[in-house]
Amino acid sequence: MDPPSGHAAQLNYPIAVLGGGIAGAAAALRLAQSGMRPVWIAPRRRDTFKPGEHLSGAAIPLLKTLNSDAMLRSEVHRHAHTTYSAWGSDTLAVRNAIAQIEGAAIVLDRGAFEDALGVQAIAAGAERIKCEVTDVRVTDGHWQLDTADGCITSDFIFDATGRKAIVASKFSTRFQADKLSCQYAVFSSPERLEPIPVTLIEAEERGWWYMSVLADQRVVVNFYSDADLPGFDTAALEENAHNTKAISAYLTDYGYGTPEHSSRMSTNSSWIAPAIGAGWVGIGDASAAFDPLSSHGMTTALWSAIEAADAFVAQDRQKMQAYADNVAKGVHDYLTARTHVYRSEKRWEGSPFWARRHGAR
Ligand SMILES: Cc1cc2nc3c(=O)[nH]c(=O)nc-3n(C[C@H](O)[C@H](O)[C@H](O)COP(=O)(O)OP(=O)(O)OC[C@H]3O[C@@H](n4cnc5c(N)ncnc54)[C@H](O)[C@@H]3O)c2cc1C
Repeated sequence: MDPPSGHAAQLNYPIAVLGGGIAGAAAALRLAQSGMRPVWIAPRRRDTFKPGEHLSGAAIPLLKTLNSDAMLRSEVHRHAHTTYSAWGSDTLAVRNAIAQIEGAAIVLDRGAFEDALGVQAIAAGAERIKCEVTDVRVTDGHWQLDTADGCITSDFIFDATGRKAIVASKFSTRFQADKLSCQYAVFSSPERLEPIPVTLIEAEERGWWYMSVLADQRVVVNFYSDADLPGFDTAALEENAHNTKAISAYLTDYGYGTPEHSSRMSTNSSWIAPAIGAGWVGIGDASAAFDPLSSHGMTTALWSAIEAADAFVAQDRQKMQAYADNVAKGVHDYLTARTHVYRSEKRWEGSPFWARRHGAR
């Protein structure tokens, strides 16, 4: 059998990290920093915009433990000192970083951030294989990972394949709390330069909107609603964005025109329980994926990668079990907080989107 393209002849690895997002890169890095030599398997990153740029200030201590916090000083990211939100009323409430105990959030260039973490992981000793795993199974106590170029075997797997959770969803149980989905668009930098760099959140009858200005002055606009509700149509995103109040005013004031890119993604709240099993652990969205309203997906990806890697390095079953228990507790706390936040918006209790979040089916 030929080895998968671009990697060494060795095909059996003690530890395999699957997935090239933040969780995969952080786990590969943490393991390598602890003297392990994980193989890190993930497809080549697509050269398109990856949404999810609001990194909570709570992530910074986690990046410090990875010696990765310096990468946030790159000019491709910006500090998010002010967030405005029209939630529960038409009035824009200001949230200033000075009042946030965890400090200012960062609006990331997501691709640049993931690339920088990956470069650090490889420099620390992780071996990267750029391919997709098409199937996983256990044979004679070893994982068999099929790829287009052949089979890789491993003794232990970190599943960081995001919402696909290719190992965790096959060997454990997936739960899903809603059908939230996102349409997003990226608008090119405007002709009128230096827009005020803000992040805006705006609720409306069919769901809610998020807008943020990137460091390069492009704007990201996301619309969240349930995928099965009428009107959730990517083709109408631009027109609908111009029907919002605060976000539309901002786009018009600064001359943001036609989006350069738009798409849609699932953003439902879902989780795997238990998040560990014989010879594997789920991390990042492959253990628990949250509503982007929480702005905690990337922070949780970092936290889970570090906790799971440390438990593995210590070869401590109790520590690994404690990790899975903490994931389950985090999901419980998150679901409680999510209910509270959605119920605080009472203007459209009769509309299907809000009625579902106020207890109706
Ligand atoms: C629209 C949107 C907006 C968001 N906004 C925010 C935000 O503002 N702040 C925030 O903190 N979070 C946000 N999130 C959540 C955040 O993006 C995720 O929580 C985070 O990406 C999880 O990282 P991850 O590494 O676990 O998964 P992912 O980033 O999904 O990475 C999964 C990786 O696995 C790889 N993979 C998948 N299948 C295979 C396979 N078969 N073989 C090998 N590799 C595979 C993929 O190629 C990818 O590299 C948002 C999410 C969405 C969708």
